[in-house]
Amino acid sequence: MENQPATTVTTPLLPDLDDLNLLLKEIWASKWVTNNGQFHQQLEKALCDYLKVPFISLFTNGTLPLLTALQALRVSGEVITTPYSFVATTHSIWWNGLKPVFVDIDPNTCGLDPDKIEAAITPRTTAIMPVHCYGKPCDGIRIQQIADKYGLKVIYDAAHAFGVEVNGKSVLNWGDMSTLSFHATKVYNTIEGGALIVHDEATKKRIDYLKNFGFESETEVVAPGINGKMDEIRAAIGLTNLRKVDRSIEARHEVAVRYRDSLRHIKGIRFFDDMPGVKHNYSYFPIFVNAEEYGMTRDELYYTLIKHNIYGRRYFYPLISTFDCYRALPSASADNLPNATRIANEVICLPIHHELTNDILNRIIDIVSAPKKA
Ligand SMILES: *Cc1c(COP(=O)(O)O)cnc(C)c1O
Repeated sequence: MENQPATTVTTPLLPDLDDLNLLLKEIWASKWVTNNGQFHQQLEKALCDYLKVPFISLFTNGTLPLLTALQALRVSGEVITTPYSFVATTHSIWWNGLKPVFVDIDPNTCGLDPDKIEAAITPRTTAIMPVHCYGKPCDGIRIQQIADKYGLKVIYDAAHAFGVEVNGKSVLNWGDMSTLSFHATKVYNTIEGGALIVHDEATKKRIDYLKNFGFESETEVVAPGINGKMDEIRAAIGLTNLRKVDRSIEARHEVAVRYRDSLRHIKGIRFFDDMPGVKHNYSYFPIFVNAEEYGMTRDELYYTLIKHNIYGRRYFYPLISTFDCYRALPSASADNLPNATRIANEVICLPIHHELTNDILNRIIDIVSAPKKA
């Protein structure tokens, strides 16, 4: 077993090569390789249909739509956000010259705790940037109520929430804008890529200018834009992967069900069940290790798995607020973030993807169930 190739937390969904080849030949024939080409346009339309969203603008990665959303909404001053995320969430605030203000998470969703948002609002606050962590929807209703009361914008970092719906409606329509990442490690990928979801055509137009240096026409620049465009090759990969993503999510679902059935009785291991009315994408399978009850720390379990060539990921440890560039912020103290601090020390995301074999899955379950024997 130890001689087997490493099992990683995920493996990229790759397009069918024959499918992709046909599209690449078209690109080669047309010689139109980027700048809103035919596959770019087709992918925007296909994703609007698949995701049930009105307007989408494709990007070259999942960080530029965060940066661009803050620009487009003219956010200023302070932005309330979560420390329990991938660093790009906070970096996007910083790169806009704004001050991130960290608020603690709700341990039942790992998203921003709505009960703690209002205390962090100051006269300089202009926006909230929550994350649908692991694709679990935030408390969007309460967050919107607070935003409306104080006149704040809401930009969801929905990098984990591809295809996630509540009562048949996409969470990507929540707030003022939502962003997606199509990085290779995500449920749906274009290798590198991302998108910004907006509510109306005028905003979509403005985003399309902003991601193309601000060009409105050959000679007119209407805003200081950036280069965030997705090229035709990645759009073609996106079109072919879209044909496979449902099967991949179904395979992940089966893995999640096996983990839950097998680990439910293990003392000191907590995990999430499906939320009622929610269509999940099974993008991650986080478990939370209570060291006292489990008889082993999170890191001991993490390294035991590695000894057996199984690489979970401690998403999200360390917290963003503990990195050198942010730790001096008043909101970054562990006292202000007790739930996030505890959860970051308990979490391991177990391998979950469309190619995980039953043998490996059984092996992971055996180790987590009896780590001292492993
Ligand atoms: C992956 C991710 C991003 C960044 O996306 P990239 O495509 O890698 O730039 C942003 N936020 C979260 C929560 C992510 O998981």
